[in-house]
Amino acid sequence: MAQLLFRDDPYLKSCEAAVTGARENVVELDRTVFYPLGGGQPGDSGALQLADGTRLRVVDARKGADDESVLHCLEPAAALPAPGTRLTAQIDWQRRHRLMRFHTALHLLGAVVEAPVTGGRIGEDKAHLDFDIGMEKLVKEEIEARINALVDAGHTTRPAWITGAELDARPELVKTMSVAPPRGAGRVRLLEIPGVDLQACGGTHVANTREIGRLAVVRIRSEGKRNKRVTLAFAQ
Ligand SMILES: [Zn+2]
Repeated sequence: MAQLLFRDDPYLKSCEAAVTGARENVVELDRTVFYPLGGGQPGDSGALQLADGTRLRVVDARKGADDESVLHCLEPAAALPAPGTRLTAQIDWQRRHRLMRFHTALHLLGAVVEAPVTGGRIGEDKAHLDFDIGMEKLVKEEIEARINALVDAGHTTRPAWITGAELDARPELVKTMSVAPPRGAGRVRLLEIPGVDLQACGGTHVANTREIGRLAVVRIRSEGKRNKRVTLAFAQ
């Protein structure tokens, strides 16, 4: 179990930490800024810097035994720091910030398209949601105009927490049917964009929708009976 600093401050680029475990090519820390793969958002990459300046490259971050632990995956055959070693954990911020912008953009897309979400994926260069909806209801120009209006409106975003029981009583908060929200320590994290969207989400988001920048709908395609995929990219 580690202190997951990205939950309360997704803008933290680095933190001091101590090694709590190391095996094969995986390091665990007592606190971390690394977001582990989950909810359609990729795990962070970056580095662990030791006191002597040695930088151990982190190629991926995954969830450990529970939602409160993070496995920092090093390159194969990397020299592992011993438990107790103090170091600086530093994420690849340029990459993470793009993921945060796209992640927040998907909340806007989910608010604009009124249909159950059947899947989703966030990348560095594009992101998509799948909807259970008729293709004829997905109009590129209309979706693009509406999400960009939400971007331009400069809505603030904020995390909130509710209990697992409260979430069970409000199933509408779980929009993405294929992704169960993390339930660490009996509580569930929500992401609220007041007046726009409120749903269970453990990911990292930008603080204001304006920070996403303008978006383009680059593709609308059927990926199956219940999967009509809308793909977004940053507008040039
Ligand atoms: Zn989210």
